[in-house]
Amino acid sequence: MTDLLKNAVATGFENLFGYAPEVVWSAPGRVNLIGEHTDYNEGFVFPFAINRHTFAAVALRTDAVVRVASAFAPGVIEIELSEISRETASGWSAYPLGVAWALLQKVEGGSVQGFDLYIESDVPVGAGLSSSAAIECSVAVALNDLWELGLSQRELARVGQLAENEIVGAPTGIMDQSASLLGKLDHGVFLDCRSLEAEVIDLGFAREGLELLIIDTKVEHRHADGGYASRRAACEAGASALGLRSLREAGLADLPRAAELLDDVTFRRVRHVVTENERVLQTVAALRERGPRAIGELLYSSHESMRDDFEISVDELDTAVETALRHGAIGARMTGGGFGGAAIALCPIEKISEISRSVTAEFALLGYAKPDVFVVSAAPGARRED
Ligand code: ADP
Ligand code: MG
Repeated sequence: MTDLLKNAVATGFENLFGYAPEVVWSAPGRVNLIGEHTDYNEGFVFPFAINRHTFAAVALRTDAVVRVASAFAPGVIEIELSEISRETASGWSAYPLGVAWALLQKVEGGSVQGFDLYIESDVPVGAGLSSSAAIECSVAVALNDLWELGLSQRELARVGQLAENEIVGAPTGIMDQSASLLGKLDHGVFLDCRSLEAEVIDLGFAREGLELLIIDTKVEHRHADGGYASRRAACEAGASALGLRSLREAGLADLPRAAELLDDVTFRRVRHVVTENERVLQTVAALRERGPRAIGELLYSSHESMRDDFEISVDELDTAVETALRHGAIGARMTGGGFGGAAIALCPIEKISEISRSVTAEFALLGYAKPDVFVVSAAPGARRED
């Protein structure tokens, strides 16, 4: 698939623009292994880059014009570099144009050339695998090379976030871009959302004969916007009632005091965040000391906490998790913001087909939409393709 797409993107570029691209760059999507709704509380997250990628074929121009196109949508969007703004960049092109804009903020006084860009991707859109970060990071590494900016992967992650915040207009954190840029084969990216320090941690899935199954429930994120805002508000209210700047400063030892001070709902929101941060740290420690078979219970505790305390799961996600566990998964949980989207299940390779079949059958039995079930592995981060 990877080589197919790499060739397809170069051919697609040439068919569209009438000449060959200089090079092809790629960046992966990501899945969050554990650490949900902890990012905006300055806590810990632990995603990994997956073996699904966006490929970007790019060539510099001699003028300051930018043209972008994608196999995903018809037409070519054309704009002067200096004209890119939240108002002029709309639809999918806001992602690549936003990255160009964010990089331009770093080119002090200097001028850079425009470019032609064409992308192809096999990261599913809207499944919680961050197809958006895959675009941003493929374009960021491409322009960093072509414009000879010399920015580090960490700086490029900030560039992707800036593009998404300022030009796309989505108030997202830095997790997705960090995973897409810093990923490493069979490793996860442990990220501290307060210091922004990232550490690459050996997952050992391949070595231990494990694979991660994604179960995309196809349930649209119902009430996601309102639900997300109210969870954020509860976390802020909880932190301030406890006299803390953010819930990152709260630990397990603060929970009895929180139970006394806070109303029941706010307390349970706080308890999710505090225990989830702890679970991320325990997951990293378990991987280091005992290997991936030791993280199953942590994954399931995370799911229970999101279901019961944070109340962001839905029946389809609970069914996916319980069915996978019943048929031999080591651990499983919903992943992403909640109210729909995907669940993940860590499975022994020999159980993958039984678990996939059982989940699909259970969904049919309950009259749910047919889920999309597929395996991902932890892949290297964004790079220039040879
Ligand atoms: P995700 O969880 O997949 O990142 P988002 O809503 O953040 O979901 O981003 C999805 C958006 O990214 C799409 O609506 C589209 O604008 C853009 N996108 C994703 N993949 C492609 C692609 N291959 N080509 C063009 N745009 C894409
Ligand atoms: Mg996204």
